[in-house]
Amino acid sequence: MGRVLIVEDEKDIRDVVAFNLKQAGHEVSTAGTADEALRQVRANKPHLVLLDVMLPDRSGTEVCKTLKQNPATNTIPIIMLTARGEEVDRVVGFELGADDYVTKPFSMRELLLRVQAMLRRSSTDVQSEGVVAMGSLKIDHAAHRVWVEAEEIDLTALEFKLLWTFYQRKNRVQTRARLLDDVWGVSPDITTRTVDTHVKRLREKLGPKCDFIETVRGVGYRFTSAPES
Ligand code: CA
Repeated sequence: MGRVLIVEDEKDIRDVVAFNLKQAGHEVSTAGTADEALRQVRANKPHLVLLDVMLPDRSGTEVCKTLKQNPATNTIPIIMLTARGEEVDRVVGFELGADDYVTKPFSMRELLLRVQAMLRRSSTDVQSEGVVAMGSLKIDHAAHRVWVEAEEIDLTALEFKLLWTFYQRKNRVQTRARLLDDVWGVSPDITTRTVDTHVKRLREKLGPKCDFIETVRGVGYRFTSAPES
């Protein structure tokens, strides 16, 4: 449960999303323009923002940038609402720090799952040390050990770092550029293909029982246990 701000200029979509989020127990506020959205965030800081890309005054990506650049608001998770064909805006949004996206037309069930996963994340972020579990996966961060269904998996130091980065940012879309930066550190002789190669190897090592790494086409990856609808 949390306070969700819905930023969407199409009234029908705004109303149906607001209705369903309220039904699910969330507190909801709405905005139809970018300026109104920024006013609402200042007035009553939400736990999550659902942000449409196409708004009448300014683009959703601009709103995203404004929120992520301000230390007072940069920890608020943002789920972008995009139409098919808006891939460029979506990528730009992730580069600006958006956390997830849902493509229109979306099912209400999918949207609710994403909202819940994103709100849950903040409560599990606290346990950064010790053994953490996610489905069949168990990670001992201090000992650098990983198990899938009680069977220990042998990972290289780099693969472990990649897995841990995924785990810490679970349910959020992560661009290849961001992963390169976080896991490898910026290096001129490393390309984003390196990320794909290592993700592939990590997937193979974890096996089918641990299918948490989802490919987000044209963008990067999302580490998630939330079922796709
Ligand atoms: Ca719109």
